Amino acid sequence: MRREGECVTCGDCCRVMRITGILSHVVGQHGSLDEARAYYSFRKIRIAAVSPETDSLCFELDIPCDKLTEENHCLLHGQPEIKPMICHRYPAVSDDIGRCGYSFR
Ligand code: SF4
Ligand code: SF4
Repeated sequence: MRREGECVTCGDCCRVMRITGILSHVVGQHGSLDEARAYYSFRKIRIAAVSPETDSLCFELDIPCDKLTEENHCLLHGQPEIKPMICHRYPAVSDDIGRCGYSFR
């Protein structure tokens, strides 16, 4: 997959925290994906980007990064020694963020 486009500073990727999980473990723990969705929804955690091919899923939590300014700029921009590596290379794959200026082909 090739990345195209550019960041339009919508800030959406910095407002939602995403944690990758193992799909088969989650289904095994909860009995089904629907059961897991219900359980996590009570804590305002969403399950997104379910991928049976890679046996993975993504937990989404509405926890904004405290390094994001009101103008949607990163306070750590230009400081590679302290800016998290995942932020440097984001997005490496599509996160299905509607306003994101990047796309993948
Ligand atoms: S460190 Fe910067 S780029 Fe990374 S999530 Fe926070 S505001 Fe966004
Ligand atoms: S979601 Fe995409 S366009 Fe928006 S701030 Fe993040 S990288 Fe930039």
